[in-house]
Amino acid sequence: MMIIGAHMSVAKGLEKAAKDVVAMGANTMQFFSRNPRGSNFKIYTEEEISRFQAIRKEHHFGPLLAHAPYTLNLASDKEKVYDFARMVIREDIARMDALEIEYLVFHPGSHTGIGTEAGIQNIIAGLNQAITGEEKITVLLETMSGKGSEIGVTFEELQAIREGLTHPERVGVCLDTCHVFSAGYDIVNHLDEVLEEFDRVLGLPLLKAIHLNDSMMPFGAHKDRHATIGDGKIGLSALLHVLMHPKLRGIPVYLETPLDDDGHKEEIQMIKEVIYESSGD
Ligand code: FE
Ligand code: FE
Ligand code: ZN
Repeated sequence: MMIIGAHMSVAKGLEKAAKDVVAMGANTMQFFSRNPRGSNFKIYTEEEISRFQAIRKEHHFGPLLAHAPYTLNLASDKEKVYDFARMVIREDIARMDALEIEYLVFHPGSHTGIGTEAGIQNIIAGLNQAITGEEKITVLLETMSGKGSEIGVTFEELQAIREGLTHPERVGVCLDTCHVFSAGYDIVNHLDEVLEEFDRVLGLPLLKAIHLNDSMMPFGAHKDRHATIGDGKIGLSALLHVLMHPKLRGIPVYLETPLDDDGHKEEIQMIKEVIYESSGD
């Protein structure tokens, strides 16, 4: 069975979000580990957490994905920015692990002038102070579009990060279809080759999650603008090929398209219908 969900708000709590997942016909979700543009986070009561855990178990949710805030830049050489990023990644790995969330994804960072190599060294040091190796959670590096000085625009950069880690077994990859397309990986015409390259550079078993988004920006534009499924430059049929690719079977898929919960509900329904039709059973 397909594991699919959307990015959801947890502003009204974890329990409400889990109920909304069920109402949406989904079986997983992504949510922000804390305020995406700030640093605040909510402390959930024991009752709320246990009701949340009960819902996800009862409805057999697939792996849940927390997304770290955008304000986190582990590649930075600016002391304040870097110290903040080190603290947030350390806290959020621990907090999400305590909630039994399977994955925490973050944007590797932007080197803002110090160069990719130096930026990668900062990311490695930041992860090594945050990951104890005792966690159950897996930290995911997100593939990036390469806007500005973003790191993670190639599979090689993600592999370079992993190579420096004390606990590489706790770190995987989240592939964002909009970002890789915008980064110059042609998932529309050469999906097999892109997956072969991922496998050669990183190893396909490291691919733990897919952000399913269409792209407003053309191939290789290095710009990060998500479109709803079928309404961008990637298109519905290429995104369906990603969903149905035999090498990607079982990997959970999270929509980050510019829609609210009702829109995501329709999008998930549409995806299920076309997949059902094209699989012909
Ligand atoms: Fe992201
Ligand atoms: Fe994403
Ligand atoms: Zn994006």
